[in-house]
Amino acid sequence: MAYPTLASLTTLRLGGPADHVLPISDPAAWPEAVRTVGLRGEAAPVVLGHGSNVIAADAGHPGTVVVMNTRGITTTRVDDSTVAATVQAGHPLADVVQWAAAEHLAGIECLAGIPGTTGAAPVQNAGAYGQQISDTLDRVTVWDWEMGRLRTLPTEACRLRYRDSRFKADPGRWTILTATFHLTRSQPAASIVYQPLADELGVSIGSRPPVPEVTAAVLANRQRRGLLLDRHGPDVRQVGSVFLNPPVTAAQAARWSAVGCPVHTDSDGQLRASAGWLLEHIGCRPGHDVADGVRCSDNRVLTLTAHGDATATGFSEALTQLGERVRSATSVVLRPEPVAIGTWSADQPRL
Ligand SMILES: Cc1cc2nc3c(=O)[nH]c(=O)nc-3n(C[C@H](O)[C@H](O)[C@H](O)COP(=O)(O)OP(=O)(O)OC[C@H]3O[C@@H](n4cnc5c(N)ncnc54)[C@H](O)[C@@H]3O)c2cc1C
Repeated sequence: MAYPTLASLTTLRLGGPADHVLPISDPAAWPEAVRTVGLRGEAAPVVLGHGSNVIAADAGHPGTVVVMNTRGITTTRVDDSTVAATVQAGHPLADVVQWAAAEHLAGIECLAGIPGTTGAAPVQNAGAYGQQISDTLDRVTVWDWEMGRLRTLPTEACRLRYRDSRFKADPGRWTILTATFHLTRSQPAASIVYQPLADELGVSIGSRPPVPEVTAAVLANRQRRGLLLDRHGPDVRQVGSVFLNPPVTAAQAARWSAVGCPVHTDSDGQLRASAGWLLEHIGCRPGHDVADGVRCSDNRVLTLTAHGDATATGFSEALTQLGERVRSATSVVLRPEPVAIGTWSADQPRL
């Protein structure tokens, strides 16, 4: 039987063959999946959701790739105003946000339109418009491949930071099976903290419009800014932002904000400069070619898109080169946001 390539499992549509692909649609099938990986002599598989935040190697992966397709949301009452929603790892995060909006459950409305699965969202503490997974995540159930057992990790044990977590730091160890969020039964949404969203809604910072209005405004704003994954658009082969907003010192923040670079303080208190502005500073423009088969999206420079015969190696080289140009022009170090998976040789650019 021919297994799919990693390209067919990722939104960039890059990446070579996988030795063995194991889709998981039924949560009850998990013990069998663990047994299969063990029988193949592997310590752990590569885990994928929708592949919207990975760059898969051209050489592929010589082992098992588990694809989380499990779906389902169950709720329990915590108290009069709080509902615990436990979501299967393969359930699309965007669908969970829509479900919460329909139920008037507040806390994740600003995450509308983020592609990918709920199980992947804690991996980089996915966030947007001033909200992030860590705001509402209560716990995850995981398979710990090192200990060979099921565990429940409370949010504090997940070490969620700005686009970071212990899962991202130690990728081979964990498979997230479910994520439980504490959502607030509330007509109004959580307070609006992000100015572009306040502008979109025509309200001031701190306002609390109804949850469905916030969700709709986030989607409208993402649509306009090219932040939705349009499966039929020219920019479909992408992973969203390719660089994290980089941490900067107070001196760097003062220097670059004086010439127009947006700088913000993240939820960990770290000053961060706009990666998109820094790319524009070195001459990147929407729609520009960056390398063979790699170009800035038509909407924003921080999204690179793959075209034609692009390769994962070429895409990664493009990131390395852009990072190097920003570093030499500004002394600010960019770190890629997507995660490299599969086999990369020593002479290839490794993210
Ligand atoms: C158009 C576009 C817009 C985006 N906008 C945002 C945004 O606003 N904010 C944001 O934070 N991100 C954004 N992203 C990035 C991406 O959507 C998120 O990181 C998302 O959470 C990835 O989900 P996925 O299922 O595609 O993960 P994948 O790409 O399949 O995997 C990502 C990482 O998580 C690991 N992983 C996946 N599932 C599991 C699991 N069940 N257990 C353990 N590890 C797992 C993988 O091994 C990999 O390391 C955007 C991407 C695109 C293409």
